[in-house]
Formats: sequence, structure tokens, C-alpha cells
Amino acid sequence: MGRVALVTGGTRGIGAAISKKLKADGYTVAASYAGNDAAAAKFTDETGIKTFKWNVADYEASKAGIETVEADLGPIEVVVANAGITRDAPFHKMTPQQWHEVIDTNLTGVFNTVHPIWPGMRTRKFGRVIVISSINGQKGQFAQVNYAATKAGDLGIVKSLAQEGARAGITANAICPGYIATEMVMAIPEEVREKIIAGIPAGRLGEPEEIARCVAFLASDDAGFMNGSTITANGAQFFV
Ligand code: NDP
Repeated sequence: MGRVALVTGGTRGIGAAISKKLKADGYTVAASYAGNDAAAAKFTDETGIKTFKWNVADYEASKAGIETVEADLGPIEVVVANAGITRDAPFHKMTPQQWHEVIDTNLTGVFNTVHPIWPGMRTRKFGRVIVISSINGQKGQFAQVNYAATKAGDLGIVKSLAQEGARAGITANAICPGYIATEMVMAIPEEVREKIIAGIPAGRLGEPEEIARCVAFLASDDAGFMNGSTITANGAQFFV
């Protein structure tokens, strides 16, 4: 059996591609999700990957879910904090609820995911923490004050964890995808999406598998000296 990897939000979109790639590379994969039971069941049918349901925004639920995964599959050595949501609105219309839902899921959710796993990684002197941030955490985005704040915060988390974990054999890195063809992006109105694609020098959206391959590298032994880094994968969408 290979190393145990947990992918939060691992049943759909980018997370599903990550789960499948890690399984193909020999990991024993656990994919978590929030509530879409039908998508999770279909994913397990197609891949044979076990799924586990909990809300990453809830610390106690995350801790209990992680304990269940570890009791079932063994200690988690690779964790991919991928679960994320958008609640877009221009700032003057953004409600406190939209702000808090995104902060609780995308930022506090990373704390809730990594914190229960971290002591075991320190004890075993090995760990890989990979956080899926976003280009919009690097450059900001109209109507995404909440989302951009969380994704920029994710970069601060990995840079700090990297310094705390380095001596214990733990690496923490982030990936900033550009626009990837998942339900999250296909939910953007078509005319807006067309404008987004026109602004990508590659002339297309990225594929979830292109992010999954970046994760596989960061999880591997080959990436042992990469720590606190950000991999940018966005089709040459440069920004200042
Ligand atoms: P999707 O909406 O396609 O999938 C989201 C996944 O996360 C689902 O499995 C969902 O579970 C799960 N999830 C959502 N909220 C929670 C929660 N509170 N607790 C547990 N699981 C949850 O998203 P994408 O694949 O598009 O995005 C994945 C990550 O990549 C996100 O962090 C996103 O911000 C980031 N990203 C995406 C980009 C893109 O272009 N798509 C670009 C840059 C970054 P369920 O099925 O139950 O709803």
C-alpha cells in the first residue's frame, strides 16, 4: 500500500482529478466532500476511491472525519486542502454572510484540515501539505474581495507552515491555478467566461488534470526541497 493521501473536495472538479492522479501514482486516497452525495457515489463507482463527508468549515467535524479516515486507511502523509467555494458580489453589495461563508470554508477550512493531521506528521517526520490557492489570491479580482482574501491567506499559511515543518521533514506548498474548466468556472455567465478566456494568452481554460500533475510532483519525494513555494499554473496570465 502506498502513502495515504487526503484530498478535501476530492470528489468533483480539480479535487477529483487530484484524487485520481494520486491513486494512479500508487497512493491510498481518501476524498472528502461537503454534501453532494450523488456526485460522491458516482465518483466512488467510477474510481474505487473511498469518500468521506464532512464540512471543512467545522473544526470538530474535520477532526472527527480525519480520525475516521486514519482509522480506516492509516496515518495521512499527504494532505491536499482543495475544498473551496465562491460567493461573488461587488464589495458594496457583499453581505457579511457571503464574506463569512468563504472565509470559513477556504481559509479556516485549511486550518481545520491541516491542524488535526500536523502532530502525526511531526511525530513521523514526514508530511506533504499542498494547498490549492488561486490566481485571484495573487492579483485580486472584481467581485471577489472575500475569495481573494482567502486565497492570499492560503499563501501565508503555507509559507509559515513550511518554516515550522522543515526540520520535521514536512513540506507545505501552494498551487495557484488560473481558470480551470470545472463546474465552479462553468457557473460563470457565458459572456463573462468568454472575456476571461480572451484574457488568457494560452487561449483556453486549463484542465483539472493539469493541476493534478502539479500536486503529484509536490507530493513526491522529488519535491523534498520545495518548501513554502507557490506553483503558478495559469496559461501565462501575467499580472503585476
Ligand atoms: P468544484 O466546485 O468543482 O468542487 C468543489 C469540491 O469541494 C466539491 O467536492 C465540494 O463538495 C467540496 N467542498 C465545497 N465546500 C466544502 C466544504 N465546506 N467542506 C467540504 N468540502 C467542500 O470546485 P473546483 O474544482 O473548481 O475548485 C477546487 C479548488 O480549486 C477550490 O479551492 C477553488 O477555489 C480552487 N480554484 C479553482 C479554480 C477554477 O478555475 N476552477 C481556479 C483557481 C482555484 P460537494 O461535491 O459535496 O459540494
